[in-house]
Order: sequence, then C-alpha cells, then structure tokens
Amino acid sequence: MLLSMKGLVLRETPAGDKGRFIDLLTEELGVVTVFVRGAKKVTGKSTAATQLFSYADFCIEHSRERYYYQSAKPIRIFYQLRENLRNLSLASYFTELIRMTVPKGKQDNIVLRLILNTLFYLAEGKRDAKMLKPLFELRFASEMGFMPDVLMCRRCMDHLPGNLVFSASDGCFWCIDCYKELNKNEDTAVYDMSLSCLEMIRHITLVDLERLFNFRAGCETIDIVSRFSENFVCYHMSVRPRSLEFYHNIERNL
Ligand SMILES: [Zn+2]
Repeated sequence: MLLSMKGLVLRETPAGDKGRFIDLLTEELGVVTVFVRGAKKVTGKSTAATQLFSYADFCIEHSRERYYYQSAKPIRIFYQLRENLRNLSLASYFTELIRMTVPKGKQDNIVLRLILNTLFYLAEGKRDAKMLKPLFELRFASEMGFMPDVLMCRRCMDHLPGNLVFSASDGCFWCIDCYKELNKNEDTAVYDMSLSCLEMIRHITLVDLERLFNFRAGCETIDIVSRFSENFVCYHMSVRPRSLEFYHNIERNL
C-alpha cells in the first residue's frame, strides 16, 4: 500500500550498503521509521529530502508492518542548522526528545507544528538558541500532557507573587513566604524565581501556538526558566537525552 504524508526527518541511521533508515515525525503516524533503499545511489532532490532536518512530502510503501521510502518532494530543508554547531546540537536535542517520547501511531499535528516553527526560528537566527530551548521544552512537555501548575501559590493562592519557588519535580510553585513556612526538606529540583520567570512560564504553557515565539525576556530570566524547564522535562518524561549534554558542552566552550 502506498501512503502519502508530510514528515520531518528526525534521524538518519546507516544500514550498510543496502541503504539507511530515517525516523520521520508525521502528522498521521507520529514517529515512524522508514527504510531508504540503496541510499548512495539516490541523487538530487530525493537525497536532500531524506536528510536530517528536512521537511518533505513523502511517498512511502507500507508492506508487512514496515515502511519503505519511494520518493519525496522537499518542502523546507533547514540546511542552515548545519552551519552552526550550537544550533545543530540544540536542534538534535529537540529531535531526540521527540524520538524518545512521541509514541508510534500518535495522530497529532501540534508537535509537528511546534518543532517546524522552532527549527525555522533557530535556522533563520530570528530567536536566540537560549530562548528557544525553554520555549520548546516546556511547550512540548505541555502538549504531551505534562504541564506545570502555573496559576497560583499552592498554599495561599496568590497568583502574582513578587518572588516564588518553583519545584520541577512537584510541577507547582509557592510564594517565597509560604515556601519558608513549609519547611520542605532539601529539594535540589527547586528554583528561586521572580515574577518575570513565572510570566515566561505562563506564556510558554498557555498562549496560542501562533504567539509562542512573540516574547522577550532578560538573560537572567531566560537562564533560570531554562534550567527549570530542562529539569521538568527530564524528570516528568523520564528521559536523559545524550544530545542535551552535548549542547551544554558546546555552550560552556563558547
Ligand atoms: Zn503563598
């Protein structure tokens, strides 16, 4: 049976002389692994369409529970990502996160739209990598059903605290006064935040996808929210992507 679907290449894996596997994120089938026969002989547009970070219209043969590449028309190839190691490592982290957590067969166009938009802003240099990291992490987790409680202090219900403590593991926050009174045991997954951090987290998790990237914040705010979002995602989705360590190594050596 021949299938037609739009997909983003999340990973390429060599399979000897016979060809290679590509993992695609599609609207219809979630993450799907497709075999590309005789990859070395494929030239021109088809090669480009099956490369990492290529978004294309694929024609795929489905036979005996397996998927075989037939042809593809490129829609957008984010080739600029290869020109900058930091952006490349961040994009690889996002795609690894998707591969690790989006189930096969999940019908959903939100995650596909989210990653395509994120890669667009990253490749075009329209938003800084440091900003895009927490935007993608927290929004992705929320779309996958892991959303922190961003509404009010868990104890006194203050929804605009000047200073607060957000717990990545509990997924909720307390105003600073309530947190002190709680006498919680030492928890390494808590983050001291100002209201600007909370506003950023609220924006990422609550705003329409169209407006997600229309946001500005100071470096310190972005840094705190980024450390929180990373911990939140890894804890609740039970993942530890290797590419995240790689991204941090690059960041440290910039
Ligand atoms: Zn409170």
